[in-house]
Amino acid sequence: MLQERLTVQDNMVVTLAYTLRLKDGRVVESSEESEPITFIQGAGEILPALEEALYGMAVGEEKEIWLAPEDAYGPRRADAYQVVPRSEFPEDFPLAPGVGLYVYTETGEAFPAYIAEVGPDTVTLDFNHPLAGEELHFTVKILALRPATPEELEHGHPHEG
Ligand code: ZN
Repeated sequence: MLQERLTVQDNMVVTLAYTLRLKDGRVVESSEESEPITFIQGAGEILPALEEALYGMAVGEEKEIWLAPEDAYGPRRADAYQVVPRSEFPEDFPLAPGVGLYVYTETGEAFPAYIAEVGPDTVTLDFNHPLAGEELHFTVKILALRPATPEELEHGHPHEG
């Protein structure tokens, strides 16, 4: 009995082991520390350029994928910084460079930001994505593949690995 070899296509649930490194080799994220990610191919759950590079891969296959900043989190923008008074933070807020937070506009929209600098009276917020301006190097391996169920396709995400 011949069996069709499953490869990554649209509407397949993909279980992916990955390590994400920066250009200098520093590891940013790895499924060895967290968990492999599971997503529906073609549903836009992961970076589009990463998704694009996975098409046609089979279970067990590994690949090195390099993404330029413009294919990842975009360039780092010099105008994406904002200085706010320290008094705007609750007293117990952990004011330290690198701490992530959400800034809410008057209309209730939330923007993720990171603390870039803490001064005596002010805090500088960086609205750039932490990986903006970085070339990303993914090492990926397909662990499992299966067709998504109609319900999963309707929701746009897998319900189990
Ligand atoms: Zn759901």
